[in-house]
Amino acid sequence: MRTIQHWIGGQTTAGESARRSTVWNPATGETQAEVTLASTSDVDTAVRAAKTAFESWSQSSLSQRSKVLFAFRELVNAHVDELAEIVSDEHGKVVSDAKGEVQRGLEVVEFACGIPQLLKGDYSDQVSRGVDVYSFREPLGVVAGITPFNFPVMVPMWMHPVAIACGNAFVLKPSERDPSASVRVAELWAEAGLPEGVFNVVHGDKESVDALLDHPDVQAISFVGSTPIAKYIHERANATGKRVQALGGAKNHAVILPDADLDFAANHLVSAAFGSAGERCMAISAAVAVGEAGDAIVEAVNAKANEVVVGSGRDAKSEMGPVVTPEARDRIIGLIDAGEKQGGRVTVDGRSLVVPGFEQGFFVGPTVVDEVTPEMDVYSEEVFGPVLSVLRVETVDEAIELVNANPYGNGTAIFTSSGEAARRFQRGVHVGMIGINVPIPVPMAYYSFGGWKDSLFGDKHIHGPEGVSFYTRAKVVTSRWPQVEHPVASSFHFPTAH
Ligand code: NAD
Repeated sequence: MRTIQHWIGGQTTAGESARRSTVWNPATGETQAEVTLASTSDVDTAVRAAKTAFESWSQSSLSQRSKVLFAFRELVNAHVDELAEIVSDEHGKVVSDAKGEVQRGLEVVEFACGIPQLLKGDYSDQVSRGVDVYSFREPLGVVAGITPFNFPVMVPMWMHPVAIACGNAFVLKPSERDPSASVRVAELWAEAGLPEGVFNVVHGDKESVDALLDHPDVQAISFVGSTPIAKYIHERANATGKRVQALGGAKNHAVILPDADLDFAANHLVSAAFGSAGERCMAISAAVAVGEAGDAIVEAVNAKANEVVVGSGRDAKSEMGPVVTPEARDRIIGLIDAGEKQGGRVTVDGRSLVVPGFEQGFFVGPTVVDEVTPEMDVYSEEVFGPVLSVLRVETVDEAIELVNANPYGNGTAIFTSSGEAARRFQRGVHVGMIGINVPIPVPMAYYSFGGWKDSLFGDKHIHGPEGVSFYTRAKVVTSRWPQVEHPVASSFHFPTAH
């Protein structure tokens, strides 16, 4: 049995802990590897390696750092296929989808290649006679990322390229369900010339996360995962005085107005609801049909949902793979059952799907539940599976109210041909990322990514300009070089410009 090890100080290591966790092959239902789960002392070893590396990395020149970033960019680009296959094997998503996530991660690396520009400070000449003011930003030290299973390459890449480009050293604690991609990424960093210890990977569960949250030498925590854990991370990391951004779960609504191109909307709803088996934080899990859009959109979505090709992620014909674990499959099926019991109408039913040749795989087929109301569990819980709930309202204002009554605020979309309705929607919803005829509005790397309400705890969104700000702190210098011809006498009033 293959054992996946940590990456600390520029090499793989088994660590001290004997604890292990299963890494499934979700398509076959077999165990394919074991991953080492770090102890508190293993985490301490990684943080110490990072702290030592920070001493010199933080002093490296901007051009030296951007050179490493450019080399890393080339290497990731050259290994897109390999990384996508690693992701597909452990997560289950189809390889073409996994390539998309590597590509979106790569875009953050490309953003971070511009670090000399991103770290430019401000300068004000002569704010007072003979006095100048300027500002610049410094790295924080050792920073850590704790990431979910659903994007094992992209989500860590929302964090480490920016943190490292800013001059920090990084400890990544990826999901224990699909840990291999992070180790491969660490090897690529090393090949790119990143000094040992600047990027480290510790695998683990709660013990390793708590060790990072409590470690006095970890200055900041970036977390992406489910809302209960995001809340916990935010509170515990705050209590130890760390900077923290904790991105949580989601319930993303797509509102369909009667004036929308319904065929276009149905195509996008199906790909946004069932792509990656619905295991995307920006997946559309609630369709809100306005007025007479209702029956027509359900009919179109049902037809397309029935055509989705479900199979192994490695089969090029598959459009959707299995879900990540047997527990995830059982939970998703349980929520569909609850939706049906509570009055929902299951119009496309993926509960008993069996994929020939993969009978033991963790498959759930595309599922549509119509006539859902906000009280039903299938709506109030984050399903995180290939399940689209359809709710019906009469007006765009009712749709906005429904979106805003939901505790999550990650992403939302509207399908319409009315600019006026789209503008009302974008101004009215309490959600961080909005799509207008775009179902999965994940911002480009040079914008920042983040939700509102229970989808994000902390002040800063991730990557983009807010990422640079998160991983650095400002110094503002007020400077005077006394001039002999203008002697300055003592003055006891509070300094003001003159
Ligand atoms: P998760 O919350 O179970 O795990 C996330 C990370 O936290 C993992 O590294 C895990 O090991 C760790 N963890 C789990 N339980 C813990 C505990 N009790 N104490 C400390 N650490 C713990 O999430 P997941 O199932 O891996 O990922 C799916 C979730 O992530 C969904 O809720 C999804 O919406 C969310 N997500 C959000 C975004 C976003 O940008 N907002 C992006 C991707 C995924």
